[in-house]
Amino acid sequence: MNLENQIRHLEDSDKKYLWHPFTQMKDWLNEKPIIITEGRNCFLKDISGRWYLDGVSSIWVNIHGHRKKEIDDRIKEQLDKIAHSSLLGLSSIPAIELAAKIVKLTDVSFKGLHPRLARVFYSDDGSTAVEVALKMAFQYWLHTGKRGKDSFLSLKNAYHGDTIGAMSVGGIDIFHATFNPLLFKAYKAPSPYCYRCQLNKTYPDCSLACLIEMKRILEKHVDEIAAVIVEPIVQAAGGIIVSPPGYLKGVRDLCNRYNVLLIADEVATGFGRTGTMFACEHERVSPDILCLAKGLTNGYMPLAITVTTDEIFNSFIGEFKELKTFFHGHSYTGNPLACAAASACMDVFQKEKTLKNISSKIALMDDKLTDIGELPHVGNTRTKGLMAGIELVEVALTKKPYPWEAKMGWKVAYHARGKGVIIRPLGNVLVIMPPLNISLQNLGSLMNILKESIIAVTIER
Ligand code: PMP
Repeated sequence: MNLENQIRHLEDSDKKYLWHPFTQMKDWLNEKPIIITEGRNCFLKDISGRWYLDGVSSIWVNIHGHRKKEIDDRIKEQLDKIAHSSLLGLSSIPAIELAAKIVKLTDVSFKGLHPRLARVFYSDDGSTAVEVALKMAFQYWLHTGKRGKDSFLSLKNAYHGDTIGAMSVGGIDIFHATFNPLLFKAYKAPSPYCYRCQLNKTYPDCSLACLIEMKRILEKHVDEIAAVIVEPIVQAAGGIIVSPPGYLKGVRDLCNRYNVLLIADEVATGFGRTGTMFACEHERVSPDILCLAKGLTNGYMPLAITVTTDEIFNSFIGEFKELKTFFHGHSYTGNPLACAAASACMDVFQKEKTLKNISSKIALMDDKLTDIGELPHVGNTRTKGLMAGIELVEVALTKKPYPWEAKMGWKVAYHARGKGVIIRPLGNVLVIMPPLNISLQNLGSLMNILKESIIAVTIER
């Protein structure tokens, strides 16, 4: 089969057999899919040989670039030993070594802070890391004799994954409202979304009124609330919503005051994305439970971890008959190949001084965003580290959004695609999240193409 026929055959088979996630398949069937065949550094190659800049790190997972030699080699080495063995009743060298590395890493990041994270529980994806955290928090209170703590406090605009528990603490109506009848009860505090403040206040005059609202809920329902769960510093899928300074610290203080656990979902923000290893570090906050996934394996393999304190862990220790066991564990929990990839990914941080080297890139992105922020249909730009959102609006003065069905974010994304850049918007918010090892030159091109695309779609159309 020649290449042209092979491409046509694959496109037809995609449309015939595949159901793509978060995708209206009616639209998909009318589009020409991009079929990715190769990756290198921060670029992706499609089946017809065209290269694209991976502007969203393949859904926020890639940190050190594609085909990273150190990680490729470590996986191959592990593959020559064994691909998978279980952590249920057995252990493995990659799982042990990675757990030790992660605890050491959190020790450095949260040095001198209380509580101290000390135990690693493996699962497979961001959503499962969150499910584990919720179940752990709930069961912890049972073990300490506090019954009735069967709810959680989460935020409007929160996204913690697509499984039922994770959706229950989610707060994005477009994704979650359909499933409401299936979800458990969770209290919702306002999102720290200053551009569209739910409380109609303006930062800093508001004195963080959203925290006062959180305090009110805690005061009233503390007997029912096992934990507060937040995406620290950046509510990612909610539209790259960056919380104002002091917000996260305020949440930690409230959790201490009302004696509820703090779950930090750093699935999106972890591993350097916001400029520090973990986003919590920006406000010197240490959570009781930390959820990590995505960048953990440099986006090579599904792997997630839920890290917690000795206090929580120790509450699960008891006689066999007491049934204090944490009855949770997936078939692929702690998969050795994935743990080997993650271990190598952690080593690359050290070897390449990734966090030190991104400061000039963050500065460039900030500069370019300031410029883009001047465009007439850009209502707001938000950024932390190498994570940015550009909110498009129909009328800047009134902040009137483009209607959802106008698909403005997608129109800009398609335009950028034509210029060799892949991004995936969140409604009217353009998301920029390149691999952290992107060069200054490539980052500059990415931002210039985005600007051009916004102009072409919102002004010249
Ligand atoms: N939590 C956060 C903060 C996320 O951004 C995501 C995914 N975007 C998830 C959880 C769910 O992760 P996964 O898609 O790996 O299940």
